[in-house]
Amino acid sequence: MYASKLDKRIQEERLLVLVQNLPSSLLSTLAVSIFMFYIVVDHVSTINAIVWLSLILFLTLLRTIHTHRLVKYKKGNYLSEEIIIVLGIFMSGVLLASSVFVIFPPDDLALQALCFFLLSAMMAGAVSVYSTHILSFVSYTLPLIISFLYKATTLPDMLSILFIVGLAYYAILLSSMFRVNRSIINFLKTKYLNYDLADHLSKAKESLEKTNAELKIENSVREDTQKRLYYLANYDPLTGLSNRHMFKENLKDSIKLSKEKESSIALLFLDLDNFKIINDTLGHAMGDKLLIAVSSRLKSLLNDKSSIARLGGDEFVIIMNEINDNEEVSSLAHNIIKLLEKPFSFNEHEMFIGTSIGISLYPSDTIETETLLSYADTAMYIAKDKGKNNYQFFTAQMYEDIQFRHNVETKLHHAIKNKEFRLSYQPKVDSQTNKVVGAEALLRWDNHELGHISPSIFIPIAEESSLINEIGKWVILKVCEDLAYLKSNFNNNPCISLNVSSSQILHQNLPQLIQEGLDKYSLSYQCLELEFTEKMLIKQAKQSLIVLNQLDKMGITLSIDDFGTGYSSLNYLRTLPIHTLKIDKSFIKDTPHSQSDCAIAKSIISLAHNLNLNVIAEGVETMEQLIFLRDNACHTIQGFYFSKPLDLNEFAVYLNTPKAKALEIF
Ligand code: C2E
Ligand code: CA
Ligand code: CA
Repeated sequence: MYASKLDKRIQEERLLVLVQNLPSSLLSTLAVSIFMFYIVVDHVSTINAIVWLSLILFLTLLRTIHTHRLVKYKKGNYLSEEIIIVLGIFMSGVLLASSVFVIFPPDDLALQALCFFLLSAMMAGAVSVYSTHILSFVSYTLPLIISFLYKATTLPDMLSILFIVGLAYYAILLSSMFRVNRSIINFLKTKYLNYDLADHLSKAKESLEKTNAELKIENSVREDTQKRLYYLANYDPLTGLSNRHMFKENLKDSIKLSKEKESSIALLFLDLDNFKIINDTLGHAMGDKLLIAVSSRLKSLLNDKSSIARLGGDEFVIIMNEINDNEEVSSLAHNIIKLLEKPFSFNEHEMFIGTSIGISLYPSDTIETETLLSYADTAMYIAKDKGKNNYQFFTAQMYEDIQFRHNVETKLHHAIKNKEFRLSYQPKVDSQTNKVVGAEALLRWDNHELGHISPSIFIPIAEESSLINEIGKWVILKVCEDLAYLKSNFNNNPCISLNVSSSQILHQNLPQLIQEGLDKYSLSYQCLELEFTEKMLIKQAKQSLIVLNQLDKMGITLSIDDFGTGYSSLNYLRTLPIHTLKIDKSFIKDTPHSQSDCAIAKSIISLAHNLNLNVIAEGVETMEQLIFLRDNACHTIQGFYFSKPLDLNEFAVYLNTPKAKALEIF
């Protein structure tokens, strides 16, 4: 396959050289013919000579035109024209050879010799002109040598010599032509093999370069991907700050450095206050903008010894290396709080947030990396608990508190199932008639490990973990059950109030739940009262109003607990369908001695009267307090003075016996 391809190329090349030589061959044929015509024209038949020359001229013209067209249009592709070329050469040879018969001067031996010489010269010239193409050489020279030999036979004297000389001459010509031809072919073969080799090499080089270029691109793509992956693995794409992973690495490095230099590190755990509200109400896009802005404000406060990371959500953490004293840390925490207090504005929206910061110290608090973070988190949690927008250094007490809270939460999960809850009833007494008008149901929890836990401790924990809904449901059903018990066993129908948490308003169908409780024990609405705090009503104003209205329609009495501590606007109070104000025990405690407390208590009582609401005082412990309240027209009293919270059966007894203490004052 390859060899035939090479042969074809050599053949093409040989033809190319042949065609390149054609003009000189045509020219020399023409020149020799004209010269012969010139020297013989006076010695032979003029017509013969003219016809002979005309044919040669005509043929030379045709071949010239053909050669010209070949060069112009075929551009080296002469294989298809090979026969015509050879035919033209052959015809030229024949016409030139015919001179021997047509225009050889019969009587002039000298001229004949000159003609022979010219023809032999033409043959000799053919070696160089046609040596690349044997067929052309033979086509051209064969007619010449044949005519030469034939003519030799017509010259008897010189026959033997001329014939032999002619043959020998032709043999020499042929052999030199073959030699030249072979060396040309060898040369061409070597040339093409070299070409091919060079071609192969250049192709191999090209493909190598291409592969190299592809590899380079692939490498750079891989590098980019690696960079991107590294970035995603170590940085927060939103703010560009380090992420949790990077933070941990940084903290490890800081601790290592701190060990070497025997210096201290402070870890500041930041959690934005009210971020969730902004995110929920103004959307995530706004939330994102806020986080970016917060990040850049935080960065502006840091020096080159500190680093910052975003742990996720609205949590940030700052590592302060090589701290000198706690003052330095406090100062940064203080500055952060002040800077984040300033409003953030994004297209007409002005936002206010704050931040709670927990601080732990290495190595004084702990030398464990994970613990250091969890201590800072704990301190932050306490900062939130203390009213947000402040900073707290971690203390061992905090840790114990958190552990305790955690323990309580875990145990609370099983409290209902393990029947660890019970209800106490604290009587409410009418200060005018001494009659028990009802009671407040107060939840009690006795855990075999933790012992008795006050509701003021476990209720907030239950509220945070949303366990409160389940507990609240239990309380409602238990109150209904106890009411039914009092009714059927003692024929008593007291009105029992129970405490409701904000989560119950938001996440529980409270009206339906109460309806179910009342229906289950065939109770009437009048025997239930619900106590809400001002704070929870204000926090979820819209939703609270809807639920309160439903409960009001059902005929349930609604009371505001701890009244006076929630700073609620009186205007807002007016819109609520409430029936009772319960004066918070903190205002009762110092009556009648504290003038201001007396003034507050009196104001609440008169406010209730003016709004046509019932009023009750809780936390009444002394007779003086009772007298003060009774004299100021607060008719319902709850407190240790009359009774501590009682078990159901104790309460039943209390309901049915005369009130000795109450009687004392009348
Ligand atoms: P609260 O609703 O203000 O309940 C009154 C608290 O005052 C009760 O504390 C009661 O024992 C206490 N108390 C009553 N009389 C006096 C007194 O004369 N002097 C003093 N110093 N205290 C008195 P308790 O039972 O520890 O409950 C604490 C808080 O726990 C309650 O405050 C209420 O907010 C919450 N709580 C109790 N039971 C439940 C419940 O079933 N559900 C919900 N959501 N919260 C409850
Ligand atoms: Ca209460
Ligand atoms: Ca209260």
